Amino acid sequence: MQLPLDINSVKGFLAEDEGEALYQYALQASTLGPCLEVGSYCGKSSVYIGAACQQNDSVLYALDHHRGSEEHQLGEEYHDPELYDGGVGLMDSFKAFRDTVSRAKLDDTVVPVVSSSAVASKHWVTPLGMVFIDGGHSEEAAHTDYRSWAGHVVSGGILAIHDIFPNPAEGGQAPYNIWKLAKASGLFEELATVNTLGLFRRR
Ligand code: MG
Repeated sequence: MQLPLDINSVKGFLAEDEGEALYQYALQASTLGPCLEVGSYCGKSSVYIGAACQQNDSVLYALDHHRGSEEHQLGEEYHDPELYDGGVGLMDSFKAFRDTVSRAKLDDTVVPVVSSSAVASKHWVTPLGMVFIDGGHSEEAAHTDYRSWAGHVVSGGILAIHDIFPNPAEGGQAPYNIWKLAKASGLFEELATVNTLGLFRRR
């Protein structure tokens, strides 16, 4: 795997082994249909998945309202002052995201969708080769992301969920809870987890 830019120059919370797994799975999955990720932030995962999509002349829909998750807000643990728009008093990761996509030469592959999951999915009908869920970590946000997108994965396609912590002492439980939903749904075959990246293949 050769990435089009120094991935360490992109802010984000995705580990290298997780990114590589996303790339490898997207390489096959993007032959089945376009890919979609929820929670692009500054575009780290977009580079991995987008680079794979580009090889297959496919597309990555990169969905994020770019106003930050709960933990990115002013005064919260993962707040980054560089991504705060003081003029409107809101987080804004879109500028950093565009910069990443452009530096990675992925403008012909990555389609930014600046919206919430609930709104973007309202009339969505396109079957997806791969869905990567890495959005908000509240139960409500995670469940909305799962309900909005998991059903659009085509047979043979991939559902990936970030931040899977079976031990509550290690991290929030919302992503793990939707991982359990996917497992119990009967729709997916469980694949080996990579670090905190949960993976399924649609039956
Ligand atoms: Mg994450």
